Amino acid sequence: MKSPNIVILGAGYGGIMTAVKLQKKLGANDAKITLVNKHDYHYQTTWLHENAAGTLHHDRTRIKIKDVVNTSRVDFVQDTVTEIKQDEKKVLLENSELNYDYLVIGLGFEAATFGIPGLQENAYMINNINSSRLIRQHIEYNFAKYNNEAEPNEERLNIVVGGAGFTGIEFVGELANRVPELCKEYDIPREKVRIINVEAAPTALPGFDPALVEYAMNSLEARGVEFKIGAMIKEVTENKLVFEKDEEREEIATNTVVWAAGVRGNSLVENAGFESNRGRTPVDGQLRPKGYDDVFIVGDCSLIMNEESGRPYPPTAQIAIQQAEHLAGFLTSQIRGGGHEEDFVPNIQGTVASLGDDDAIGVIFDGKKLFGWQASAMKKIIDNRYLLKLGGLPLVLKKGKLNFFNF
Ligand code: FAD
Ligand code: NAD
Repeated sequence: MKSPNIVILGAGYGGIMTAVKLQKKLGANDAKITLVNKHDYHYQTTWLHENAAGTLHHDRTRIKIKDVVNTSRVDFVQDTVTEIKQDEKKVLLENSELNYDYLVIGLGFEAATFGIPGLQENAYMINNINSSRLIRQHIEYNFAKYNNEAEPNEERLNIVVGGAGFTGIEFVGELANRVPELCKEYDIPREKVRIINVEAAPTALPGFDPALVEYAMNSLEARGVEFKIGAMIKEVTENKLVFEKDEEREEIATNTVVWAAGVRGNSLVENAGFESNRGRTPVDGQLRPKGYDDVFIVGDCSLIMNEESGRPYPPTAQIAIQQAEHLAGFLTSQIRGGGHEEDFVPNIQGTVASLGDDDAIGVIFDGKKLFGWQASAMKKIIDNRYLLKLGGLPLVLKKGKLNFFNF
């Protein structure tokens, strides 16, 4: 009998971990495995805010796919998916097309812009290596330009970050550390630079532990971050951001708006006709959309309900990795004739958010709170553990964060 064709779309956390686990579990004659990704590298999305601020070079964040995927077992295709034709069991790529018996979709997230005027055209987004590198370059260019103009231009030194969710908070934490270095390099007094974080909800990090939120805000404010809380962003132009707070409209002159105020699943999934909620498709216990037995969705394109809270789990790398591990087990047993039928349930081991390289906040295990260097060390342990799973000790030594205590 012909061995089945497994096609995996996207080499983010969900996609690459599915490929790495399958290459170990399945024998060469069990299945043909193909992994498709836009670039020849995997990147750790969870470090992109550091690349965008310029506190970590993007080459630390990206990993050559051929360094972790065994290309004699997995056929790697570097190409861009343009359409999923699930009725024909086919995927269209920019340069070719692929047929599948089993499809694994791991195409990740896009920024959700909620139709806000000017956002798409004028704001920067922390979406991938290219967009993060652009933010770093843009900020640095504005610092370099500042002392080359006859009239001081405050737009160049006002950096506005939209959203104080985890991405926004982690990014301003990096900026707070980076800005003093840039000031020194470009002879600009620190007090001329503003880092402004604009959040619509009545608090930063809505829903997170209030004591941890307070710690985070104090740490960031002490390093010069300004917060506008309860302030809804309404418009972005080339040189200003408009927000509404207490029914008043206010403007900030800026040519650097970084939008970190929400994500949605990749539009390709919605366009393929799968049921979706902000681009995220509800999946069953084996990660299949309702009514499909040959399509699986992992990571930010999937939506799983938390039965306890009655709300969807937030999209995280933690869940994407666990889904991949589950799916590799399920697919292996399907191909070998059944058996493994337990439903996937996320095992949330905690949430840790960095506030720069040496500071962080987090809740781990059964609700224990961590602050400061302890949380920061925990974040690095989590990141290194992922690298260990993906590529073993050599990858940890090559790309990992080993300066736990920042000595
Ligand atoms: P992604 O990691 O988004 O990867 C998708 C892949 O698909 C990419 O390789 C991309 O190039 C590829 N791709 C996309 N479109 C195409 C196409 N058309 N054709 C071919 N390839 C394509 N979560 C945590 O658990 N912990 C954290 O600390 C954390 N920190 C974060 C920090 C930041 C700055 C951000 C933005 C997110 C963070 N998250 C964190 C969330 C986490 O990064 C996401 O949940 C996770 O990346 C989702 O993984 P994924 O596998 O769905 O896809
Ligand atoms: P998010 O949806 O978690 O937060 C977006 C924030 O933007 C919210 O606080 C929201 O109130 C605010 N916002 C929305 N519209 C706005 C507007 N018009 N004006 C001002 N503020 C507005 O999105 P995120 O922070 O990008 O995170 C995306 C996902 O990635 C989440 O699931 C998150 O848990 C995960 N993540 C996790 C970590 C971590 O664990 N360390 C880090 C980053 C991201």
